[in-house]
Amino acid sequence: MRNSLLLLAVLLAAPARAEQSELFDGTSGKKLEFPAVTFTPSPAPKDVDPRPAQTKQSGSDLFYFSPEEAAAAKKKFGVAAFRDPAGELPFDKDVPKEIQAQMLGDLAFIKTVSGSGASPLHRQIFGAVDGSVYEQFFKSRVSGVGMSRCGDGNAVACVMPFWNPTKMWLTQNYIRFSHPQVSRLMVVFHEARHTESGHGNWGHASCPTPFLGPDGKEMRSIWTGAELAGEAACDKTPLGSYGSSAIMLKNIANHCETCNGKVRQDASLYADDQLGRVTDAKAHQQMVEDFKL
Ligand SMILES: [Zn+2]
Repeated sequence: MRNSLLLLAVLLAAPARAEQSELFDGTSGKKLEFPAVTFTPSPAPKDVDPRPAQTKQSGSDLFYFSPEEAAAAKKKFGVAAFRDPAGELPFDKDVPKEIQAQMLGDLAFIKTVSGSGASPLHRQIFGAVDGSVYEQFFKSRVSGVGMSRCGDGNAVACVMPFWNPTKMWLTQNYIRFSHPQVSRLMVVFHEARHTESGHGNWGHASCPTPFLGPDGKEMRSIWTGAELAGEAACDKTPLGSYGSSAIMLKNIANHCETCNGKVRQDASLYADDQLGRVTDAKAHQQMVEDFKL
């Protein structure tokens, strides 16, 4: 691991040499473009997996990054500052209009949410169940939106701290995705949590093997149906990306007064699913208790 970090440091310091390197997956014969060492929000290459070799995308679920990558990103960019949430969310020019419209529509919906209560974990992470709170949370963390493969054909959205700790990337699946609107919001709020470089970007833990649900069956991704045993697709804290977005949705299910029954039902279903990804017994139980409040 230390060798990998060392190599990474060399790559960061001397990007020109990296073009001859075999360290990157999926790049054979392709020339890598490296963003400048000083922070500039330049886009990552679209057709290669731009990250160091430590974490391979399994294709089973959302995007993964390793603790080493998060640490390297922090070293490179420092702790990302929250931005002023005023103003429009900037989209790269190559984000198709339909995808921009879908995301803006999703964020416009979340802005309408108004609730009368909130669970303790929700208050800790977000504050009240309120559209302006969610908008502020999202826009203070996400500095812009671009298009990427997110390393994998099944991904919907990703944050790649190694390239830009505050940028969110969407894939074409964002509009092909046949899941309800609140589940799409859960994905982008999950990813927004990954911008927090002061917390190691809330990197994931490995799911156990075997990974069985309450019904005794193998746990599968609600997005792709792929088995999750052994994948870096679990969390050990309620405060990470799976936990925080599940807490958001469960609070919408329990406390949103402006949402219709379908929205609340969808929110509850997806929150319960993502709760299953929090595998530490104490953290899991804390969320179960929190969901009753
Ligand atoms: Zn994640």
